Amino acid sequence: MKLIGVDIGGTGIKSALIYCKKPADGSSYKIMHRSSVPTEARFGREHIVENICKAIENYRARTDCPVIGIGSAGDVDDATGRITYATSALPGFTGLDLRGAIKSRFGGRIVVINDASAALVGEVYVGGCKGQRPMMLTLGTGLGCAMIEDKSKLGSGSVNNIRLGHYILHEGGRDCRCGSKGCAEMYVSATGLKMNGDKDKVEDILYDPKYAYAVDAFCKDFAEVLEYACEKYDPDEILIGGGVVEMAEQWWDKLKNMCAPSVADRLEKAALGNRAALLGSAYAALNGDYGKQLSYNPD
Ligand SMILES: [Zn+2]
Repeated sequence: MKLIGVDIGGTGIKSALIYCKKPADGSSYKIMHRSSVPTEARFGREHIVENICKAIENYRARTDCPVIGIGSAGDVDDATGRITYATSALPGFTGLDLRGAIKSRFGGRIVVINDASAALVGEVYVGGCKGQRPMMLTLGTGLGCAMIEDKSKLGSGSVNNIRLGHYILHEGGRDCRCGSKGCAEMYVSATGLKMNGDKDKVEDILYDPKYAYAVDAFCKDFAEVLEYACEKYDPDEILIGGGVVEMAEQWWDKLKNMCAPSVADRLEKAALGNRAALLGSAYAALNGDYGKQLSYNPD
């Protein structure tokens, strides 16, 4: 059967047409086509919702998919699909009934979950992650984080979104979109990397040796966040995903060298790369409470 997966970030909205043979068998999930539209967050909430619909319409116009899974930045009430908190990266999203807005347009089964949670669901069910206490960090416009405390007890509510991106890394540091200063996501994200090198594009920094200092600073901050995460949550595997991981060859070894061995040993690049949240949101939409199979009749 066919599904649509959507991944809403502060810069782009990715969408994919996904095919799966068996709903509960993650290994049968394949992306048939993917595309992306700009979020254009500066134009506000209605405009962003319109762009999300555009991202869905691309595929809905061509095929009749009754199931749409959406991963969104911010805190999401999984049961209702309402955004309970979002920074100004998605202006006006706090309080938005995103599920309702999309359902009124397209109908069918719509599920909205946090984007880092979606990426973790993707890695666990589709990507085959081995950890028993896996944590996912997604580096994009912001820094997303989700964790499963015990993979042997997957089911309703087992994937927790953690606001690690707003942990104060540098007291009195850079202004964050949440209103605080010095939050981790202003350093450990595409945004942070661009600020470190004062450039508009991450590629311009990562692929130009002139900006090695900016990459060093990014890795040093990243290592500190990882150390904090290990101490506080003790994950046995930390998966790194999001847009910045697509260029990991430019910073991965540097980061590992800056981490204590006990931290470095837990790091893994997301096996599904930047596709984890697309596949994970589709999987979650079809299987309900992250693994608890809902009665759904695939055609
Ligand atoms: Zn913040």
